[in-house]
Amino acid sequence: MQALGVTPEEIDYIVISHLHLDHVGGLKRQRERSFALSKESLDLSGVTAFVPESMTHATARVEVVEEPRQIAPGVVSMGPIARQLFFFGWTPEQSLAINVEGKGVVVLSGCGHSTIQHILARADMLFDVPMYGVVGGLHYPVTGSRRQRILGTDKWPWAPISCGDVEASVAHLASRALKLVALSPHDSCDWSRDAFRLAFGEAYQDVHVGGEIIVTESS
Ligand SMILES: [Zn+2]
Ligand SMILES: [Zn+2]
Repeated sequence: MQALGVTPEEIDYIVISHLHLDHVGGLKRQRERSFALSKESLDLSGVTAFVPESMTHATARVEVVEEPRQIAPGVVSMGPIARQLFFFGWTPEQSLAINVEGKGVVVLSGCGHSTIQHILARADMLFDVPMYGVVGGLHYPVTGSRRQRILGTDKWPWAPISCGDVEASVAHLASRALKLVALSPHDSCDWSRDAFRLAFGEAYQDVHVGGEIIVTESS
């Protein structure tokens, strides 16, 4: 937020993708089933937080999203899709879809534990307009340690997430002729990012802290 010059007062809505420590401000917040934007607690009065399962916050208004719903004009939570993850257990995660006029739907994913195939299938059910892009974390730590390759996926520990899974996702995304593919290094290794960069060329952008990805409406 600092890098982008965004102050807490400017925030209208917060969307928590899922209740993992790296998405709610640390282990303490995860255990409390709450979230924080910084170490100091901020007054978030007047802010509505949309969460994928039961959570609370001292000052924000918290709403559990149980099914797909519009949360602002053109901005939709596609509703939680839950996966049984090894180690983390049952994990409902919501992704956002932004309908950019004249362009199509841009999907924003947090970790993507439910897999991009399931997330896009949900988007297909909700929208009649073409899909324009996919932005965010997709959880491909495929050249990481064995432990990393088991955490956060629903694959069996003896067949952890692999380069083949990345190739399958890349092929799935490629079949949709997306104009924008932006993968976050969050939980994805360099090998995966290179595979995406190579596959999507001009359409590919890296996601990084303080970076902006702008999709302009067209008529
Ligand atoms: Zn994550
Ligand atoms: Zn996660």
